[in-house]
Amino acid sequence: MIYLDYNATTPVDDRVLAEMLPLFTQTYANASSVDHGPGDVARALVEDARAKTAALVGARSNEVLFTSGATEANNMALLGVMARAPDDAELVVSAVDHPSVLEPARLFGKRLRIVSVDELGVLDLAALSAAITSRTALISVMAANNETGAIQPIAQIGQLATDAGVPFHVDATQAMGRIPVDVRQAQISLLSLSAHKMCGPKGVGALYVRRRPRIPMAPRSFGGGHERNLRAGTLNVPGIVGLGAAATLAAGEMAETSKREGQLRQLLLRELHARSPVEVIENVPSNVCLPQTLSARFTGVTARALLREVLGELALAAGSACSTTSVEPSHVLLAQGLSEREAAETLRFSFGRQTTEHELRAAVGVLVPALERLVEVRRAA
Ligand code: PMP
Repeated sequence: MIYLDYNATTPVDDRVLAEMLPLFTQTYANASSVDHGPGDVARALVEDARAKTAALVGARSNEVLFTSGATEANNMALLGVMARAPDDAELVVSAVDHPSVLEPARLFGKRLRIVSVDELGVLDLAALSAAITSRTALISVMAANNETGAIQPIAQIGQLATDAGVPFHVDATQAMGRIPVDVRQAQISLLSLSAHKMCGPKGVGALYVRRRPRIPMAPRSFGGGHERNLRAGTLNVPGIVGLGAAATLAAGEMAETSKREGQLRQLLLRELHARSPVEVIENVPSNVCLPQTLSARFTGVTARALLREVLGELALAAGSACSTTSVEPSHVLLAQGLSEREAAETLRFSFGRQTTEHELRAAVGVLVPALERLVEVRRAA
């Protein structure tokens, strides 16, 4: 089985796992236990991971809150900020954002403004400017898209947000370890990330919340007052330590990783172009795309049919993992102007640290005969 679905999730790096393992059975105290040494040890480990996570995005340690992942961080950012805003406050998001941003955003009904993207999936800055009003309480735009890899002009959006005096939230989940994201440089007020997209464990993530100027925020969960009173619940120490370790690796290896993945992407596209019996069209070109993601259309062939053909050999996605149980066309591809049919012809290849050139060549070796079979069936029909 060749795994090409890293944007859905990644394998845990051995170095990350090695740091996590002792925390299940040896150093297992509650990080909130203040009455004994083991609690102090757990708390020190959590604070060390907080510093490492903060360093990945240029934040300060005391600006990072741990969550159960980017879904929770995105929900907290939107609902927490809007809860402290006036009753008529408006929210601005992009049309291609993740469901964990779009779904809470929809709760605001007529107070939600959705900004369009161009034919490459990149946010339309003029449309964003037009959407910002004196009532805007928050702008939320992802750093890079999980389905297509399209990179958004975060620094320019940050400047617009600052000029308008509006907090700016970035879902940076897919960008981590691939492209630099610095909260001060890009003038970001809140940022979500997740460990399992960068070779860390599932079920743990973080929300950066700027300290100065302060972002007024209401809690979304209540209890023991953990995490600056914004996110109650016993801390997942092994997961948090795994996130810290993954963040350090992502930051330290980013230049090398993105170069290698960019070369793999080029190789994959070149091989598909050379060998596919149907035309292959990339939905987002490499100059505005994450290096590990190739969203490609196989003209005349549906992704569903192709995936059925390669089921036992390739782990690949037709859209995002979050929407594979639905037959709805991808909102991301439709937003950049693809037809429903073109969206249905799209496959997402995503790869990462453990992917080899040999695997990509082998994957093309599986796809090409599958495409040939489907073309043959179509011809015979
Ligand atoms: N945002 C983006 C861009 C994502 O790709 C994902 C994962 N599919 C999430 C948010 C949600 O992250 P998590 O799985 O940690 O809840």
